Amino acid sequence: MPVSQIPAELEALGWDPEFEEHFREHGEQGLVPGRVAAEHRGAYAVRTAAGEAWAELAGKLRHETMGRGELPAVGDWVALQPGSGGKATIKAVLPRRTKISRKVAWTETEEQVLAANVDTILLVSSLDHDLNVRRIERYLATAWESGAQPAIVLNKADLCPVEQRSLLVAEVEAVAFGVPVHTVSAVTAEGIDELGPYLRAGRAVVLLGSSGVGKSSLINCLIGSEQLATREIRDDGRGRHTTTHRELLVLPGGGLVIDTPGLRELQLWESSDGLTEAFEDVAALAAACRFNDCGHETEPGCAVREAIRSGSLTAERLDSYRKLQRELARLERRRDARLVSLERKKWRTFAKQQRRNPKTRRR
Ligand code: GDP
Ligand code: ZN
Repeated sequence: MPVSQIPAELEALGWDPEFEEHFREHGEQGLVPGRVAAEHRGAYAVRTAAGEAWAELAGKLRHETMGRGELPAVGDWVALQPGSGGKATIKAVLPRRTKISRKVAWTETEEQVLAANVDTILLVSSLDHDLNVRRIERYLATAWESGAQPAIVLNKADLCPVEQRSLLVAEVEAVAFGVPVHTVSAVTAEGIDELGPYLRAGRAVVLLGSSGVGKSSLINCLIGSEQLATREIRDDGRGRHTTTHRELLVLPGGGLVIDTPGLRELQLWESSDGLTEAFEDVAALAAACRFNDCGHETEPGCAVREAIRSGSLTAERLDSYRKLQRELARLERRRDARLVSLERKKWRTFAKQQRRNPKTRRR
């Protein structure tokens, strides 16, 4: 389908030729595309070109799903079978361009997708006494791992004396490796227009950062405070009515904000790729160590310890690099064990079905 035929309603939600391509086979079966705006107890609010529908997972999808990470998440594009009475069925989840995930607390090995197809991750910190460069490093690692482009937002500029600001910004830029750093205030709206380029129509952003740094205030500021106060309220003639909380918001300027409860308590869940990018400097030093497997402890010819001695690398940075590496190694071991058991389960189920139902397997 030529680009010009993409319905404007879908384009506004971020639909593009690449998703169109992935959707083709579903379209041929009469399904329609939609973007997941919220999830509530196994039911999904899905936005389509024709408006919003509530949808449930097709039984087949539910049963064939091996892990929680394959279930639809807010931001996912799905193939819907429209149903009677406004209830639709989700038949498939289209391949994700990016995803922000975390481990599931009680298993520590299963992945949960907190937001899908996010274009930009705004890593929010505040320019008060809470500014923590180590924390920004961790969030950067998570951001790189997701596939989305990160940008750093330092909020509460109004609380920070101008002469202190440039010092703090320089400190952050030292760990940011070219990731843009924006200084803003959700209260005075200073610097907010610098975020405009991330919020073009159909582009999805996520705000990540510790509690209290001002994420809600920033979203408010972007929406316009009046609108946020009333955004979940509609007047349907039967008086004010509060609808279910939406986790995919469309800003007045056309940008999309994904804000799910899970994103607010993000934990580390990633392989080492993101880690390497966020710690480029340490990795480059380590590559110059005399021994390939240098532990940067007492080995001779250690470039990392030399850098600490000369002051070009801080001991704290090496510490956080090590802490992340340990955490990732631990996750990796558990994830492997988990994958092995999932694989076993899949084969057991498959074998059982074959025994029970020899004919249907031959189709
Ligand atoms: P969240 O937990 O990240 O969503 O943070 P909130 O948006 O709830 O903000 C936490 C507190 O910081 C609230 O009291 C806000 O009023 C305040 N706050 C947020 N942004 C700013 C800012 O730019 N300047 C100042 N002075 N206070 C802010
Ligand atoms: Zn070394």
